[in-house]
Amino acid sequence: MGKPRMDSIGDIRRHGCAIPVVCVDCGRAVEYGDLGPLILRFGSGKRPEHLPWRCSACGARARDGRVLAGVWARDWLLSQPVSRGAPSRS
Ligand SMILES: [Zn+2]
Repeated sequence: MGKPRMDSIGDIRRHGCAIPVVCVDCGRAVEYGDLGPLILRFGSGKRPEHLPWRCSACGARARDGRVLAGVWARDWLLSQPVSRGAPSRS
C-alpha cells in the first residue's frame, strides 16, 4: 500500500530509520539516527525539515536554507550528479 507515512520524526523513529541531512554549502551529507533527543526537545510530531539543523563541518544553518533534512535533503541529493567521492566544489 505505497510507502509508509514518515512525515514526523516520531514516525521515522518508529520505523527505525534515520533522517538524511545535507549541507548545500559544503556538501556534507549524513544519516541522522539519534532521534530520541530530537523528539524530547522538539516533540515527535515535528517534521525533520523544520528542525534547526546546523552543519557540523561548516556551520551553515537550516534557517538560512543552507542545510536540508528529510524529503528536502533526499530531493536535493537526487538532483545532484551521481558522485560517490568527495563533494565537488563548484
Ligand atoms: Zn556544511
